[in-house]
Amino acid sequence: MSIKPLVILPDSKLRLISEPVKEITQEIRQLTEDMLETMYDAPGVGLAAIQIGVPLRIVTMDVSKSEDEREPMVLLNPEIVWASEETRAYEEGCLSIPEYYEEVERPDRVRFRYMNLKGDVIEQDADGLMATCVQHEIDHLNGVLFIDYLSKLKRDRVMTKFKKAAKREAGA
Ligand code: ZN
Repeated sequence: MSIKPLVILPDSKLRLISEPVKEITQEIRQLTEDMLETMYDAPGVGLAAIQIGVPLRIVTMDVSKSEDEREPMVLLNPEIVWASEETRAYEEGCLSIPEYYEEVERPDRVRFRYMNLKGDVIEQDADGLMATCVQHEIDHLNGVLFIDYLSKLKRDRVMTKFKKAAKREAGA
């Protein structure tokens, strides 16, 4: 396993539409291990493969509260199959947009379907942090970021900030 560098805003890779996983190969298993290690190291509660530069429909998550009892989840080709009409605002952040947090309103509860590493197709209900996290991560597979839900003013401000930071980095 190894920790991979994160793709950071404004990198255009974050806007790619990721491709479905067709077969669970050793490479896919290796990739999910790297994703989990990178996610725990960051630390974060969720990671999409594109955030380490791989445009495949893979998400890792762990929304368990305690570090002693990790509950890693690997979702292949995840999709939302139902969402509640009720919404809830949660303060979100993103490993690709470091140290920036804003409230985003999303459906309060969702049902999602995914394939696990054994190839089983699973449907699961989520609320609270898991509901927010799975929606945020599936958005990544479609090139959508949580800042897309903010006002244009806020989005422009954060884009400008990260473009400047990237320029500084390139110049250093
Ligand atoms: Zn994110």
